[in-house]
Amino acid sequence: MREKGNILDAPYKRVERREVAVVGGGIVGVSAAYAAAVRGEGKVRVSLYEASEVGHTGAASADLNRVFRFLSGPDPTLTVWSGEARDLWVALGREWGSPVFHQTGLALLVERGDGVETTGGHVYPYDSAASWLEDALRCMDEHGAPYQRVSPAELVERYPQFRGAALNEAVIDPQAGYVEASRAVAATLDLGLKAGVEYHPGVEITSVESVGDGCRLLAADGREMRADAVVVAVNGWTEGLLPQLKGALTLTEQPLIYLRPPEDSSILMPGNLPMYISLTSDCYGFPIVGGELKIADDNAFRTIGHPDERQDPPREHLERVVSTVGKFLPSVAGAVVERTHTCFYDRSKDGRFLLDALDGEARIIYGCGMSGRAFKFGPVLGERLARFAVEGERPSDIKEFRAR
Ligand SMILES: Cc1cc2nc3c(=O)[nH]c(=O)nc-3n(C[C@H](O)[C@H](O)[C@H](O)COP(=O)(O)OP(=O)(O)OC[C@H]3O[C@@H](n4cnc5c(N)ncnc54)[C@H](O)[C@@H]3O)c2cc1C
Repeated sequence: MREKGNILDAPYKRVERREVAVVGGGIVGVSAAYAAAVRGEGKVRVSLYEASEVGHTGAASADLNRVFRFLSGPDPTLTVWSGEARDLWVALGREWGSPVFHQTGLALLVERGDGVETTGGHVYPYDSAASWLEDALRCMDEHGAPYQRVSPAELVERYPQFRGAALNEAVIDPQAGYVEASRAVAATLDLGLKAGVEYHPGVEITSVESVGDGCRLLAADGREMRADAVVVAVNGWTEGLLPQLKGALTLTEQPLIYLRPPEDSSILMPGNLPMYISLTSDCYGFPIVGGELKIADDNAFRTIGHPDERQDPPREHLERVVSTVGKFLPSVAGAVVERTHTCFYDRSKDGRFLLDALDGEARIIYGCGMSGRAFKFGPVLGERLARFAVEGERPSDIKEFRAR
């Protein structure tokens, strides 16, 4: 039984387009396909095209976990979406029979300045963590989202894993946690298939254009398909498929580091250790999940022209991130790197999502510019893009994410 009381339970008010194609099988694409099938209640035929296969490790959505937080910054829409996304993740887990969202809380840390490289990735486009935090907390207040602003001593009393002397202050976001990313993508696809999504793996779409009262899609194998509307959710591959968006995105390498947990690791387990993000160094990490302790630096490592250009991170980068995190979380200092994976961000110019239509008729809808922040909102973004495509009318809360 599907969970009642979330937006996916409401059928579309108006079904203007009966054939919707979704291109890209990452979290945004599978969520769009799932939403269109469920809310279309059999009246909308949904085809999902994925160049490789859903869950492949080259996509940004494939990983152990992704941070989910309410404290997302000063944008009120994102705070509202956090609540909706949390409900959708919980409902998805219930329906799938196994949870994908785990509430651990999050400690947002402000480090002492000495020797800490301040780079500002999390607070972009602000130029200081302090001003970002003031506006982000005001936003939390306005939406009644709980948080606690604590001194280093108060943080350490609650979480003795952290080293108070390295910190100036911390904010605890108690409703935050992590989403098991690859499992969440698999769950969404499974439920989408049950709801009637027609899934086409191994189909690379090479062009999408609006023709008459619909769209034509061409595939690399020469096939031609048609749909009444298309949702394009191909992340760093967007400019190749939609050349109209050339210059809108910058791709950056983002290495992830998986550490071998130390011998006595109970204090690093979910339930004991919260998620953590340093607003000062932009390094962040997770409690132990799947036997691995994941840490990363949110700053751009290197700009690339295409997702295929990604390379393994050099040893110096790994050492720097381990040592930076180790300053405030001593269990990490000196930990052994088990493996790494280089993912990528599709950054928009101002770090905000691009959710728009390419044409005046709203036949070709796209979502990109996710700037390393989209996973947590996956079910919400998918629902909005799907609704835009099916109803042909822009949902009011994505107006501010138009191409700029
Ligand atoms: C290191 C890292 C850490 C992150 N941390 C967080 C976090 O903590 N919290 C958070 O909320 N977000 C986080 N993100 C961001 C989030 O993971 C991404 O924004 C999100 O997964 C993007 O999903 P997507 O569906 O847009 O793209 P993807 O998952 O990349 O999927 C795009 C798919 O499109 C397919 N495709 C491409 N071209 C074509 C074509 N022509 N035809 C058919 N298919 C095509 C690709 O094969 C791919 O499967 C992080 C990202 C990275 C890289």
